Amino acid sequence: MAREKEKIYGCLLGGAIGDALGYPVEFMSHNRIIETYGDEGINDLEKGKAFISDDTQMTLFTAEGILLTTSKERVVDNIYLAYLRWLSTQGYNIPVVEEGWLIHDNRLHARRAPGNSCISSLQSGKMGTIVNPINNSKGCGGVMRVAPLGVLCPPDEAFTYGMETAAITHGHPSGYYPAGALARIISLILKGENMVQAVEDTMNFLKEHEDSEETLHMLQRAHRLSQEETGTLEAINSLGQGWVGEEALAIAVYCSLKFKDDFKNALIAAVNHDGDSDSTGAITGNIMGAALGTEKIPEQWGYRVELRDKINMMAERLLYKHELYYI
Ligand SMILES: [Mg+2]
Repeated sequence: MAREKEKIYGCLLGGAIGDALGYPVEFMSHNRIIETYGDEGINDLEKGKAFISDDTQMTLFTAEGILLTTSKERVVDNIYLAYLRWLSTQGYNIPVVEEGWLIHDNRLHARRAPGNSCISSLQSGKMGTIVNPINNSKGCGGVMRVAPLGVLCPPDEAFTYGMETAAITHGHPSGYYPAGALARIISLILKGENMVQAVEDTMNFLKEHEDSEETLHMLQRAHRLSQEETGTLEAINSLGQGWVGEEALAIAVYCSLKFKDDFKNALIAAVNHDGDSDSTGAITGNIMGAALGTEKIPEQWGYRVELRDKINMMAERLLYKHELYYI
């Protein structure tokens, strides 16, 4: 079994790889992907062109918010400030506290199809919460960025902080419950549970929460499909396209459970479909990387992905914070 350090690095690196694999085909139908890349679809990262997108950018800013937090109760507020720094990298002239490491890295100022809900809610100058929702959005921009909270916290806290972090920009329950669920799944995997146990535990946990039915039902369907003989593409299509939170999480959970020992094929499945390929790739990569650790990630993919140095730096610091905070 992978060691904790390898799992934490794997979670961040895996997410970035899934994002970079899916980004070129984010807005392509499956037919168009096949026409462009051949029968197997996109199945490799192109040397020098494995660009990460907003999913990894925001995940890194989530990590930065965590790393600048000295008292856990303030973590969501600090992540909000980090997201304002991310907004400023996207060409919006807003006053920010220039702390941290990321805002000074010009590579992170690239615009890679940032999500509308993230941009508009952060531009509003208000921080959304579960009690005071900023909008009624359930886009997958809430869930695709919260994996570092699963690294930081034990499962129950990861769930709460994951939801609150998504609710900064996504006010619909299906915008934030998938984020709580993803952070909890990652936390459980880091604690030593296998992927199936982590998903089943999280489904049971969701049952106790009001308004979580949509997220719960999609997770149940993903779990069931992964045990059936249904073809991969057909199964993914039946779960939706992943533009909304509960579908993105369900597609990622399905691909992870279906290919649970096979990082490469889980990611290839996660990006070759009609929907939001980079987000479903990123979330699948977070889960698979946490479960399998860096040693099961194809070496070439690890080298090729953009910002590998920054991703490793944030993983190293998160590992230290995890050891400090995981109580
Ligand atoms: Mg993206």
